[in-house]
Amino acid sequence: MDMRLDKFIAENTGLTRSQASKAIKSGLVMINNFIEKNGAKKITPQDEIFFDNEKLAWIEAGQYFMLYKPQNYVCTHDEGDYPTVFEFFDYPLTTRLHCAGRLDVDTTGLVLLTDNGQWSHRITSPKYLCDKTYLVTLADPVESNYAQLLSEGLLLRGEKTLTKPASLEIIDDYNVNLTISEGRYHQVKRMFAALGNKVIGLHRWKIGDVVLDESLEEGNFRPLTQKEMESF
Ligand code: URA
Repeated sequence: MDMRLDKFIAENTGLTRSQASKAIKSGLVMINNFIEKNGAKKITPQDEIFFDNEKLAWIEAGQYFMLYKPQNYVCTHDEGDYPTVFEFFDYPLTTRLHCAGRLDVDTTGLVLLTDNGQWSHRITSPKYLCDKTYLVTLADPVESNYAQLLSEGLLLRGEKTLTKPASLEIIDDYNVNLTISEGRYHQVKRMFAALGNKVIGLHRWKIGDVVLDESLEEGNFRPLTQKEMESF
């Protein structure tokens, strides 16, 4: 596998392709201890590339991580009022990764990140009915008819189709586990709103067969195991 030097520099530093080309022309880039001024030069993972005297890691395509998302981080690449979950990663992963299913800014828990769009499609596309389980804290006590109504499907405000069957496990009066197989906008909050309740705490701990690793603290991530990655 080889790659153009200017593309590699852009992907590994966050510079645009033209900024990377300029940096290469100005002599900031070395391949195996020699300055290289040709951005079109082909490099391989065996080459040692230095940018401004710092060695850049060669990161191959096909990256898969689980992150314990804290509150007040967003799952988009857009600059806004909150920091993004990509800030927990170093270049070039910061720019290459995307979330396989987002969480709201105030939701905590399991987020899967990858650079493989086909893989994340299997998690997010309604076609595959991938289960996600949330620990939900409610403002008012859970009622005895919730499990039945959630399993039959609810009509959310402004929507025309019922939600797919969801399963409820009651922990205590105010805490439940809810498993859903879709990912509509603010789905869990809107499902409990449709039941006349209010979500005051939301934490996702499972996607498909992958469970948030108990050894991770908020803001920590780890690569998925081969088995976890292949489970989708
Ligand atoms: N449902 C929500 O309402 N919010 C989330 O973050 C995830 C699911």
